[in-house]
Amino acid sequence: MTAEPLCRYHKAQGQIVAATILDHVVALALGGTNDPANLAPACLDCNTDKARAEMRYLRSGHDVRFVRHDPELGGWFRRARKMHLD
Ligand SMILES: [Zn+2]
Repeated sequence: MTAEPLCRYHKAQGQIVAATILDHVVALALGGTNDPANLAPACLDCNTDKARAEMRYLRSGHDVRFVRHDPELGGWFRRARKMHLD
């Protein structure tokens, strides 16, 4: 967290926002892990928006194995990964 103090999702869009929490890129409820590669510093706004998309996905009854193909959640995953590789 201290090594990466900015919200990664905002940063991927060129916006500087302080991170306040450590977000699971792929939520545990969607099959994500606690592996450091699956964690991203995030601001509360991004965490809340992403959690809403995750709830929508879960409630829709879609198979969690295909979560990366969801257009909205896939966008979040790409933003997390983009900065991780930099
Ligand atoms: Zn953010």
